[in-house]
Amino acid sequence: MDTETADVAGHDVTTITCVCGNTVSKDGLIQANAQGIPVHSGDSPAPPELAEWPADEDLYTLCPSCGRVYRDAVIEETGTAPVAFRVDVKEAPIAEAIRVHWNLST
Ligand SMILES: [Zn+2]
Repeated sequence: MDTETADVAGHDVTTITCVCGNTVSKDGLIQANAQGIPVHSGDSPAPPELAEWPADEDLYTLCPSCGRVYRDAVIEETGTAPVAFRVDVKEAPIAEAIRVHWNLST
């Protein structure tokens, strides 16, 4: 199977148009860790559902619509956005983390 690749402009992860058609301004994209679990970016202690901000800054971008995950470092380096892996956004712990993420950011 060929690797799926999202559209991205200017090496900027926030410009991803996911393979499923989702964008930052549509359903949103979420910063995640290497397991695809949304990370906590605020100052307060991370809620248990969210992952800690990775110490090595190795971040991924999760599409909460379809569960495709892109690696930020690859996008910033190459200007392309191959799908790194895919998670099930309907199942815990990802589903819970997505819910908490949106609760915190609204
Ligand atoms: Zn998607």
